[in-house]
Amino acid sequence: MTEIEAELDRYLKRLFPLCRSITGEPNRETLRILQEIIPLTIHEVATGTVVYDWIIPDEWTIRDAWIADANGQRLVDFQVSNLHVMSYSESVDAVMGWEELQPHIHKHSDLPEAIPYRTSYYKRDWGFCVTHAQYAELKKQQGELTVVIDSELKPGSLSYGEILIPGQSSQEILLSCYICHPSMANDSLSGVLLTAFLARYIAELKDRHWSYRIVFVPETIGAIAYCALNEAAMKQIDIGLVITTVGGPGKFGYKNSFDPAHPINKVIKTVLIESDVDFITYPFDIHGSDERQYSSQGFGINVASIFKDKYYEYDYYHSSLDDLNFVSSKQVAETLSIYEGLIDKLEARRIFRRTNPYCEVMLSRHGLYQVGGGALWPKYGGRSELDLILWLLFLSDGKNDIRDIAAILQASSSELELLADKLVEKGALVPC
Ligand code: ZN
Repeated sequence: MTEIEAELDRYLKRLFPLCRSITGEPNRETLRILQEIIPLTIHEVATGTVVYDWIIPDEWTIRDAWIADANGQRLVDFQVSNLHVMSYSESVDAVMGWEELQPHIHKHSDLPEAIPYRTSYYKRDWGFCVTHAQYAELKKQQGELTVVIDSELKPGSLSYGEILIPGQSSQEILLSCYICHPSMANDSLSGVLLTAFLARYIAELKDRHWSYRIVFVPETIGAIAYCALNEAAMKQIDIGLVITTVGGPGKFGYKNSFDPAHPINKVIKTVLIESDVDFITYPFDIHGSDERQYSSQGFGINVASIFKDKYYEYDYYHSSLDDLNFVSSKQVAETLSIYEGLIDKLEARRIFRRTNPYCEVMLSRHGLYQVGGGALWPKYGGRSELDLILWLLFLSDGKNDIRDIAAILQASSSELELLADKLVEKGALVPC
């Protein structure tokens, strides 16, 4: 085991048991543990806060839960697995027969051994999730069953973590992961840990070009709250990565951002090809994770994801079998190195945009229109300097890398960079 794998392994084991949800003390505990890796700030959003079309719900506390038979024998026990209790279950302390209990019991449709993962955040309800064997055991009970959920739903707050890492450019790249899942390793603990380790990698980069906004939010409601509270900054962002399900034993994959032509997708594909791994390409889809918020019309951030066993796709998804036997620190480390490669590639990009994007630049006014002196001669791989200048001004949209532009023009990127520098000097372009 490498040093990084050993370190990941220690954090996986510490964080796995915590009963995270969209709110609650275990989320704060998770964020405090992550503070050992990176100096993130923990923010609280109070219950009742309106965030666009949503309202921050009551905070959930769960202390214990069980179902016991007539002899007091626990047939289902929260202490064995926190997945046994539906997240956000309200409190119960009752004695009832199977008929009454049955609507509150959930089992996995395919996997007999698995405890499924269920939530009821916005509808007051309670429930237990069990294996097929436990279901059969409960069903055959003749006597009354004691049903206890020792939980609390009351005003509190939603917690999230944030770290802003400045670079030479004020242009930010968004990294987001979700901290709301209880004891499941691939979805989403692997993504949370990878994000923290990647943040540390970014913070240690010398001469960092881009600025990074890195957030650890409960999925959906947390991302929505973050957008609402940071609307102006989020509107300025062009590229985002949602990091989740990165530690399974299966194939790598990546999900395209909503605009398939956006350069982020090509950069990710290049990194995966250069890493010499098999991978699956997923198109953008409206189902998924917090790209649903960040890519909404108001923000329009092109958010992509790299996976190792993507959510929805692996058998153990949203079940107790998504555990530390399924996920290993070695697998998380493999995806981490691909994400680090992606950051390196993004850092190496040189991107420019027009100082004034409206219509053509009047080249002669900036001393850029030189008809004499051979400026119109096709000396650059069949193109004249004027031709390259016009293309460069046309394609420098704040998204295209100078090397991508060079490839489009079949020109030399070093020559194009020199021309770009000249256009910056003349005030026609600005580096992003
Ligand atoms: Zn999930």
